[in-house]
Amino acid sequence: MNSRHTAIEFLRSNSSVSVLVIGGGINGAGVFRDLALQGIDVLLVDKADFSSGTSAATSHMAHGGLRYLENGDFRLVREAIRERNLLIENAPHYVQPLPTTIPIFKMYSGLLNALLKFLGLINKTVERGAILIKIGLSLYDSFTRATATIPRHSFMSKSDSLVQFPLLNPSVICTATYYDASISTPERVCIELICDALEMGDHAQAANYMSALGASGEVVSLRDELTGEIYTVQPKLVVNAAGPWIDQVNKSLKRDTTFVSGSKGSHIVIDNKNLRSVIGDHEFFFENDDGRIVLICPIVDKILVGTSELECDDPNQVCCTAEEVDYFIAMIMKMFPQANVSRDQIVFSFSGVRPLIFSQSSDRGNVSRDHRVLLLTPGDGVDYPIYTLAGGKWTTFRSLAEKVTDQTLHVLGRTRQHSTCNLSIGGGKDYPKNIEEEKLFLDSIILKTGFDSNRAKELFDRYGSRAAYVASFICREIGDNDSCLDNHSGYSHGEIVFLTRCEYIMHLADLILRRTLMAILGEISLGLIVELSHVVGDELGWSDSTRKDEIDCFISVLSQKHGVRLT
Ligand SMILES: Cc1cc2nc3c(=O)[nH]c(=O)nc-3n(C[C@H](O)[C@H](O)[C@H](O)COP(=O)(O)OP(=O)(O)OC[C@H]3O[C@@H](n4cnc5c(N)ncnc54)[C@H](O)[C@@H]3O)c2cc1C
Repeated sequence: MNSRHTAIEFLRSNSSVSVLVIGGGINGAGVFRDLALQGIDVLLVDKADFSSGTSAATSHMAHGGLRYLENGDFRLVREAIRERNLLIENAPHYVQPLPTTIPIFKMYSGLLNALLKFLGLINKTVERGAILIKIGLSLYDSFTRATATIPRHSFMSKSDSLVQFPLLNPSVICTATYYDASISTPERVCIELICDALEMGDHAQAANYMSALGASGEVVSLRDELTGEIYTVQPKLVVNAAGPWIDQVNKSLKRDTTFVSGSKGSHIVIDNKNLRSVIGDHEFFFENDDGRIVLICPIVDKILVGTSELECDDPNQVCCTAEEVDYFIAMIMKMFPQANVSRDQIVFSFSGVRPLIFSQSSDRGNVSRDHRVLLLTPGDGVDYPIYTLAGGKWTTFRSLAEKVTDQTLHVLGRTRQHSTCNLSIGGGKDYPKNIEEEKLFLDSIILKTGFDSNRAKELFDRYGSRAAYVASFICREIGDNDSCLDNHSGYSHGEIVFLTRCEYIMHLADLILRRTLMAILGEISLGLIVELSHVVGDELGWSDSTRKDEIDCFISVLSQKHGVRLT
């Protein structure tokens, strides 16, 4: 399969490519896969690791956006619901239906406000009562009725709600539960999309740690962030998928734009076993008095809490502040007053910047989450068109990629050969449909590799049907010598070698933050970091001093960006 190395070889020997995609977040990865599928020669570059920008900061939800109904954004909601359902089918190893519960404290509140908001006469949010929520959920369900991918909404009385969720605020009058979907590991979906594209042939090449630097005439200059080397490439057209950096990238390509405005959002992950067992597999979703959305949802054995909305001009420097942490804790205590949540239970935090379509509005929460493909025709000394992807949600990446791919094919005089609608993602391919099929799949891994059933299941839970590929890699490359890591019994030495060789790992952070859930689940220790630095370092040929720099750098990223201080 192609690798960063083959992309560099490509850049050294070849200066032309039909499409250059700048930005390997979920949107750039989606466009890369779609173009590769149509047989277009395409190069994807990211200045850092793939999926290390906004795509690493989501609330882990594939959702239609229930609250956008009030703004009359029906088209967006319908599109997002369709994409959510396609994700459940195409990436079942990572995207699963999520029961989402709204605690309700009033009966009639919000009706007039919603009407005025829908008519565009006001832009403020007030607490929504049971009647309004019933209307919204009925409408939401109606968008998904035809496919029946997920169950319809239901209401639960006060007494039943307090029995099912014992720590819930006793002032609730009832709860409503509807379904969206959870994405267990958004960053893995992104890397698997890229790997799928690379497997389609040599016409698809990708390099992380490769910045788009400047432009002149027919060329774009790129800088290898690992070596400092500069390359030039001549694209027929450029897709700018740089998320909150798109205006900066356009500027470096000599085009002054103001297409997006940034809205920072943060999350914390807490380890509170009592609350975790109370919420079960439910997400709790509600709007605070100030109109901000609050979600409290399960992430393996921990709880993910988000999110905030703050104006932000510099997407490079974001982290969860002490004020945001206080706000999140206050929100949990408002909904679950008996939960005894405290700061010392926080095991990880993260922040990112939503690249919203530019708006003058100071109320970030009410700016549309819709997306646009904006065309810059050749000019200002640059000879190729630039298609910029502005706005959008993680959930709608496939449909956005489809739109920009269709426009790109038109410019290149080509037509679409294949749809991505029903195309599985990575380990979602040939995914077992029931317990019997899963057992057959696991038995075949056990038979071929001699792995025990626990290990086979662990790999299946982590990689879906790609587990067979991972297991045979470990067998072939490591043989009988594979063993668990000393500092993390869930991972083996061979699995880390697999990830390093096959999934573009260049730094420790790529492995620990984005290819695995180790960091977000608070499973990091100094011993584990040192152990991983040896496995990864042996693969990448790190000297002792590089290895030490990697450890120091990762510890500083953990502390500055994720609030994790190792003891
Ligand atoms: C707090 C928060 C919660 C969210 N929750 C959800 C959710 O639950 N569900 C949902 O659907 N959406 C959610 N979103 C929105 C979603 O995360 C974004 O819409 C989506 O991730 C944007 O992806 P992207 O690929 O456009 O941008 P990014 O992921 O930011 O990717 C852009 C990439 O471009 C690269 N880049 C920048 N400059 C250059 C350059 N010069 N050269 C090369 N590469 C460059 C960056 O390194 C980056 O990797 C959330 C957003 C936030 C902030």
